[in-house]
Amino acid sequence: MRYPWQKADWQRINRERDRLPNAWLLTGLAGIGKSAFAEELARSLLCDRPGPDHAACGECESCRWFALGSHPDYRRLSPVEAEDEDKAGRKLPVIKIEAVREMIEFAHLTSHRHGQRVVLVEPAEALNPAAGNALLKILEEPPADVLFLLVAHAPQRLLPTIRSRCRQFAMTAPAADEALAWLHGQGVADPATELAHHGGAPLFDHDPTLAAARKAFVEGLIQPTLANVLLMSERADKLKLALAVPLEWLQMWLFDLSSMRLSGTLRYYPDHRVALDNLARRADLTQLMQAAGALDKLAPYGQHTLNVRLQLESALMEYLKIFA
Ligand SMILES: [Zn+2]
Repeated sequence: MRYPWQKADWQRINRERDRLPNAWLLTGLAGIGKSAFAEELARSLLCDRPGPDHAACGECESCRWFALGSHPDYRRLSPVEAEDEDKAGRKLPVIKIEAVREMIEFAHLTSHRHGQRVVLVEPAEALNPAAGNALLKILEEPPADVLFLLVAHAPQRLLPTIRSRCRQFAMTAPAADEALAWLHGQGVADPATELAHHGGAPLFDHDPTLAAARKAFVEGLIQPTLANVLLMSERADKLKLALAVPLEWLQMWLFDLSSMRLSGTLRYYPDHRVALDNLARRADLTQLMQAAGALDKLAPYGQHTLNVRLQLESALMEYLKIFA
């Protein structure tokens, strides 16, 4: 499916069809519908009777296969939960080499139908190193008539050699009014607050456990004490959150804190204007920059689930210093 805000992107990518790449890498903010768009692109590339704007017809044999999830010329690689636990007893979703090998076999077969085959890899960040290397090999010598679609919101985490083998297509985030109208239509309560919390990306997970965890985390940020730092880190650990999750909440909070201080505006937490205003008045700007810098250094470890408690504690200790 395509979301209402993807019209321009659809037209833009259609103009690139005259010269199809071997691989497209669709990038952009998480939660704006990149995967759905990529799947729609695959469906339309395989469709026997696409419409004037390349829309899949929905009725041909190919579209019927697609709807059944068993198109013989299409493969989708998505993460499965790892069987192995890390040292902390947590399982990270990954795309494993076995799945890539199976896909490579598929890519070297001849097409069941009329030539074009499509492989969707999403999110490409979930490829583990061995799987990434295997994918790279086939991207280096792509079989004829196989189009790879990679989807990533953090393309910098991919092997640079994979990135350079793909034609990049940056997807557009919806304008606020488009996103709000859509969320409203989905019956989301308080769409403006939720949209702000998710950085303007409307396809967030309506996970009530996560929403409650975020709420508790933000309450801790409003009362920056050592006791709260320890409590917040312990909670994140108990919930088995990937480090990236609370780090992102903190990063957005720091963004709003400095934005409040410098220009009186808020982007992510408009519902906490009073608290942020109070904190911004007490904030030491140098320490604020330092805390933000410390977060950037942790960001590459965001998908790790090792030592979440320790890492988060150290990031939050930097946060405390802002108000010392
Ligand atoms: Zn069709």
